[in-house]
Formats: sequence, structure tokens, C-alpha cells
Amino acid sequence: MVTTYAMYAMHFLRIDEDNNGLFVEVPGMSENWFKVRVDESGLVPTSTHCRCSHFAHKGHCQHTQIVDAFYVRIYKSNVVKHQESIVKANEKALEQAMNEAEMQELAYEEVAFSEQVLAATEKDQTPLIVTPAPVATPPVLNGQVQVPAWLAILPSYQRRQKSKVA
Ligand SMILES: [Zn+2]
Repeated sequence: MVTTYAMYAMHFLRIDEDNNGLFVEVPGMSENWFKVRVDESGLVPTSTHCRCSHFAHKGHCQHTQIVDAFYVRIYKSNVVKHQESIVKANEKALEQAMNEAEMQELAYEEVAFSEQVLAATEKDQTPLIVTPAPVATPPVLNGQVQVPAWLAILPSYQRRQKSKVA
């Protein structure tokens, strides 16, 4: 098994704290150490700065990568738990949404039912007062009145035709 620099460095990390907060010292290839600043406010601490020149140019370096990998490894259970809690929260939200949809459907059914009751009551007791819709004068073609299909099926139109016949 080949020991990479990252494996070696991770093995010898020194974690410490000063007035500026948490930092990790990462051993370099020769006897130098790189101080990597860490932000521990999140779920998993993440590197924010390294003093090496690569970081200065690129915004990341192998030292910060090693520190990040290290924290992801030791905070693994936190991450897993966090992801599980997200999944659970999503499931709960979904369940709630489904319940609400079901309640809404029940409410609609109730409204539909009471409308049926109302309609039945109106039919039985009071004559329905229907204001005839204004009917446009049908166009005359070859002496025959052309009635658009949508007009012919209107109850108000049908009633007019009947009263004409009567
Ligand atoms: Zn670095």
C-alpha cells in the first residue's frame, strides 16, 4: 500500500485554537508546517485559509483539501444524521401536503354534496328563476337561420325555440 502525502499529512495533523479560532497545522514535505484556518460554524468545519503560496494564488491548496477531507471523515456521522433529518423533514412535509390535499378533496366533496341538496331543494320548492341570456341575432344563410352549436345547446335558447313553436 502506497502512503500518499495526504495520508501522511492527515496522520500528523495538529489541531489547535488561538484568539482567531480553530486552526489545523498540516505537516509539509520538509519540516515545514502550514497553518490552515478553519471555520467551525457550519455542520462540518471547513478550511478558510492556508498560509502557503498556492492558496494565495488559487484560493485552495493541498493543505486545505487535507483539512477538509479530515473533517468530513471525523464528522461523517454528523453529516449522515443531518442528511437523515433532511430526508425525514421532507417525508413529513410530503405527508402533511398529502393530508391537506385529502382534506381539501373532502371539503370539495362536501361542497358538491350541499350544492346537490340545494339544487334538489330549489327544484322541489321554488321555481328556478333563470334570466335568459342575451341571444345574438342568428345569421341568416339561404333563408335558413344558422344556429351555432354552442347556442343550440343553451337551455335559454331551447326554451325560446319551444315558446316560439307554442
Ligand atoms: Zn496550503
